[in-house]
Amino acid sequence: MWYSNLENKALWKAFDEISRIPRASKHEEAIRKYLIAWASEHGLECKTDKIGNIVIKAPASKGLEKRPAIAIQAHVDMVCVKTADSDHDFSKDPISIICDGKTITADRTTLGGDDGIGVAIALSILADKEAKHGPIEGIFTVDEETGMTGAINIDPSIVDAKYLINLDSETEGEIAVGCAGGMEVSGKCRVKYDEAEGYPLKVRVSGLLGGHSGSEIHLERGNAIKIVARYLNRLPSFQIASFTGGTLHNVIPFSAEAVITVPDKDVALSIAENLRKELENEFRESDPGLKFEVSDTEMPLQALKRKKSQKIADALLSLPHGVRSRIPSMMDTVETSVNFATARLDDKQFSVVFSIRSMIDSKKMAFAEEIETILETYGFTSKASGASPAWEKSDDTEFAKQFIKLYKKISGKTPQLKVLHGILECGILASRIPGLSAISIGPDVKDVHSVNETLSVASSERIAACVREMLPLIK
Ligand SMILES: [Zn+2]
Repeated sequence: MWYSNLENKALWKAFDEISRIPRASKHEEAIRKYLIAWASEHGLECKTDKIGNIVIKAPASKGLEKRPAIAIQAHVDMVCVKTADSDHDFSKDPISIICDGKTITADRTTLGGDDGIGVAIALSILADKEAKHGPIEGIFTVDEETGMTGAINIDPSIVDAKYLINLDSETEGEIAVGCAGGMEVSGKCRVKYDEAEGYPLKVRVSGLLGGHSGSEIHLERGNAIKIVARYLNRLPSFQIASFTGGTLHNVIPFSAEAVITVPDKDVALSIAENLRKELENEFRESDPGLKFEVSDTEMPLQALKRKKSQKIADALLSLPHGVRSRIPSMMDTVETSVNFATARLDDKQFSVVFSIRSMIDSKKMAFAEEIETILETYGFTSKASGASPAWEKSDDTEFAKQFIKLYKKISGKTPQLKVLHGILECGILASRIPGLSAISIGPDVKDVHSVNETLSVASSERIAACVREMLPLIK
């Protein structure tokens, strides 16, 4: 057994067992079945809701029955990524675990330490007859990785907890006590194609770092769509024949490409050369790989009229991207931001998508109104959707303070309180379940969502010990 030399056998046995069960996001049937059977084997009450979340409840230790209920929460699904030469089948094969005594990885696949370690910590504590605690419950959510639909649709009536410890953070010394909420704004305008005239040119932005629009928006990296827009707006006249930039709503656009026609190629190329020098200077620190190229291409069959092309370019230039504001008392933490995520021209329309995040729900709404107004000014129709509420940092951090004290005792180090610009499940749960106080913690996991995902053994055992010892302290 790979864990026979590790200390916390119960923890690693639980981790080993769930690693044998397929649990890709939106395909959680097998792991759900396992948890339901596990609860009945251990004689514990188990509740489920319509969306598929599972809550397993363990009664209080003798004398602690009057204590408030505490939840230990983790998501059961995992991101499934493998190397090109791996024949692993995520729908049936167990994860093949590699452990060197200090770290745990998987053989050419993601490990699912995110968030299998959270599930394993919860199970090992629920099964621990020696642990002292009031009523506790393991909350196991589905589909965190592809939409958080488990947390969003949780049935609050299956949860008794007044306190919640979420185990999905990836840095041991950090405790999250708040996170952003998000929403999407999309815009569309109808287009008609006309004859293409002049010289065809391809405008291409590539080599940008991109990154996650929650955790990396503050790094001031380039947005490929905005760079193309900046170029178009310097041209005296042009027609857009094609335009595509960005990938997903939560990914900063790292590439964009447009085919345009211009009346004077030399003018267009010299404007490009000047802009290229500007960009190289501006992004030399934040995005040194940036490539801005304008080159010859084939004549397109058709293109948008000049006036419409200019209007679209004006819109792209005016629409915002990046950090909007920071938390006044924590200037290193982003409060409100927008990712100008995609821009695309197809047969009938030009469409754009924005992902807004904020620690304050009303600021998020106000920012969305601003973006919608700009869109409408330039002839787009707009729509806001998919709002998730912020987990606003509460001033009652007694729960977090207890954890800090305990963590100091166990590890000898002082943890940091954090407010994240990413969106955490426990933020959604805190807003769905009235009166719930939450913190998010977790052991060190590196390179999550990749085949290099690596979980620290010592860190996992420390976090498991912290959670176990935290339980009797909450009154
Ligand atoms: Zn996770």
